[in-house]
Amino acid sequence: MLQRQLAMVMDLNKCVGCHTCSLACKQLWTGDEGREHMWWNTVNTMPGRGTPRDWEGLGGGFDAQGQARAGRIPRRGEFGEAWEFNHREVFFGGRGRDVQLRVQGEAPQWGPNWDEDQGGGEYPNSFYFYLPRICNHCTHPACLEACPRRAIFKRQEDGIVLVDEDRCKGYRFCMEACPYKKIYFNAERGVANKCILCLPRVEKGVATACARQCPGRVRFFGFRDDEGSAVYRLVERWKVAVPLHPEYGTGPNVFYIPPLAPAALNERGEFDPRRSRIPEDYLRSLFGQAGLDALATLAAEMKKTRAGESSELIETLVSIDWSDMFGGFDRDPSTIRWVKS
Ligand code: SF4
Ligand code: SF4
Ligand code: SF4
Repeated sequence: MLQRQLAMVMDLNKCVGCHTCSLACKQLWTGDEGREHMWWNTVNTMPGRGTPRDWEGLGGGFDAQGQARAGRIPRRGEFGEAWEFNHREVFFGGRGRDVQLRVQGEAPQWGPNWDEDQGGGEYPNSFYFYLPRICNHCTHPACLEACPRRAIFKRQEDGIVLVDEDRCKGYRFCMEACPYKKIYFNAERGVANKCILCLPRVEKGVATACARQCPGRVRFFGFRDDEGSAVYRLVERWKVAVPLHPEYGTGPNVFYIPPLAPAALNERGEFDPRRSRIPEDYLRSLFGQAGLDALATLAAEMKKTRAGESSELIETLVSIDWSDMFGGFDRDPSTIRWVKS
C-alpha cells in the first residue's frame, strides 16, 4: 500500500535548455562502464523527435480500459551512443585551427539533442520550447507490471520506482512497456537502469541533483500530499501542473507547467488574440485539455498581479527564496558526510 508519493513539477516557462540538469545527473549516476550512453535526464526541443528518437510512437503504457498497449524496445542508436571525440588531437595536438572537434568512428545518426532548437511552425509564427524529462515514478508503472522477474518495485514510503539489479535478468520487457521510454539497458551488467530519483540524496533531505542544480529554478520537489509544499499548491490546489501524455495511463508523478506563448501574428503582421503562437491542438496533444485549462488559470493570475493584486500562484512560481521550491528537501549537501558503498 503506497503511503506517500514524491513528485516533481517542472515550469516550462523557465527552462532555458542549458542541460545543467542532464549533466548534474550524468556526473552523479551514469559515468561508469555500461552507463556511458545513458541520460536519465534529457532536455529536448519541442516540437521535436526527442530522446529516444520518436519515443512518442514507440508504444507501451495502458489503453483507456487499463489494458497494456503493445510497445517496442528503442534501439541503442535511437537513444544515441556515447561518442568518442578527438579531444586529445584538438587540445594537445599542436595543429591550431587546422583541426576541429569531431566524433571518432562511424558517423552518428541520432543523439539526445539532435534536433535542438529547430522547433516548428511557419515563420512568423515559428516557435519552440524545451521539455526536460526524467522517469515519472508513475503511480501505475507499466515497467513494473511488465517485469516477469518482479525486479521493479515502487517504494511504499515515497513512491520511488527502482530496479532491483539482483533480480533483473535483462529481459527488457520494462523498456518495451514504459511509454515514456525512460529505461536504458546496461549491457555491461546485463540489467535495466533508470532514474532513481536521487534516492540517497532524498533520504538525507536533499532535493534531486537535477532540481537543485537547475539555474532556471524550473523544478519544484516534494511530497504530493504535503499541503505546505509548492508541489501541492501547483498540482493539487491550483491544478496548473499537469502530466505529460496522461493518456498513456501510468499516472506520472512528474508534472509540467505548460508553456505560455504570445498571440500568433496574422498576415498583416498584427497580433491575433484568438490564436496562440503555440497551437492549442499541439499543447492538447501533449498535456490534454488540462494543459489548456492550466494556461487559462495562469493568464488570469498574471492579469491580477499586473493590476497590483497579489497571487499565491504567481508567488509560488517565482519562488524568491529557492528553498520554498523543495518541500523541505533543502538541506545543503555539503554538510553531509557521504559514504561511498
Ligand atoms: Fe532547463 Fe533547468 Fe535543465 Fe537548464 S537545468 S535545461 S533550465 S531544467
Ligand atoms: Fe516506469 Fe516509465 Fe513510469 Fe518510469 S516513466 S515509472 S520507467 S513506466
Ligand atoms: Fe538523475 Fe536524480 Fe534527476 Fe533522476 S532525479 S534524473 S537520478 S538527477
